[in-house]
Amino acid sequence: MTSLPSSTALIDRFGRKVDYLRISITDRCDFRCVYCMAEDMTFLPRSQVLTLEEIYTLAHGFVELGVKKIRVTGGEPLVRKGALDLLANIGALEGLKELVITTNGSQLKSLASQLKESGVKRINISLDTLDSDKFKAITRTGDLQDVLEGIQAAKAEGFERIKINAVILKGRNHLEVNNLVQFAVDNEIDISFIEEMPLGIVTQHDRTDAYYPSHLIQADLAQQFALIPSIEKTGGPSNYFKVAGTQTRVGFISPHSDNFCSTCNRVRLTVEGRLLLCLGNEHSVDLKAVLRAYPGDSDKLKQAIIDAMLIKPEKHEFNIHEQPIILRYMNMTGG
Ligand code: SAM
Ligand code: SF4
Repeated sequence: MTSLPSSTALIDRFGRKVDYLRISITDRCDFRCVYCMAEDMTFLPRSQVLTLEEIYTLAHGFVELGVKKIRVTGGEPLVRKGALDLLANIGALEGLKELVITTNGSQLKSLASQLKESGVKRINISLDTLDSDKFKAITRTGDLQDVLEGIQAAKAEGFERIKINAVILKGRNHLEVNNLVQFAVDNEIDISFIEEMPLGIVTQHDRTDAYYPSHLIQADLAQQFALIPSIEKTGGPSNYFKVAGTQTRVGFISPHSDNFCSTCNRVRLTVEGRLLLCLGNEHSVDLKAVLRAYPGDSDKLKQAIIDAMLIKPEKHEFNIHEQPIILRYMNMTGG
């Protein structure tokens, strides 16, 4: 057994404390969103994928090292068999304050109630348009009605917070932003708009042409809504506004137009067990190798996690005008 240093908080070279872990529990998905995946994706063979037990062991190690929030994502997390039990087990970890999930909503109609029972309190649901043809064009395989019914099923379960995530692409759905905010207001839920990030090579659009920055979305929204800047600090990359006279918050995640790296508190675990220290860089550590080389040795695992903090980069290096330097897709990354 190795002995751990007395201070086990996860602090990087720039003094940032890491207390938020995002775990991709599968690279598979029932959708093929044009900004996230290629049409003919090859998914990982099972032997390369962490087992549910390994994911739990890793989550446990991170929580022992001070991680307070875990987001389970993918791929589509709810298509992985055993996902709900895994969520319940992670949710029961002592010291974890928040367990949240990001889903495309396709399975929520049948799984919302079990998801609530598993202890998840907040969910993000991706929804880029309310037009069924555009929805099909963006997701390639998705059905808007399923997702809308899934959102209603989630609402009926009374989650603490439901937030829509919408990736806005010029020429595809940029004319939808007011409709989407109105949908959020009508349903008393929140919404965040996300600038597309250059992860993996996509073929259906040119990312430079499709770039629709947050400030243009804000200008579009200003024609229909009064947005009041929120002073609330979420610790995340979103800048929040309140829609005047409603409970709805509108967030903007702007990796290009508003760099948020100086307050970054998160790392990501891929389903292959690679710990990614930054969304926009390849710096990573193979935690699956540590787990499999030293089964049951939680100190070895925790030491590897602590050491990984030393290579967390200062900031992401996205450039939509060049071919992506990051060849992994978002479904591999755990968005
Ligand atoms: N399948 C789930 C979903 O769609 O919500 C969870 C995984 S998905 C990778 C997580 C989030 O990443 C979604 O909100 C999706 O819209 C977003 N996303 C995927 N590819 C992206 C990209 N290239 N740039 C920005 N956001 C992206
Ligand atoms: Fe699947 Fe989510 Fe990627 Fe869409 S964004 S392809 S739903 S993982």
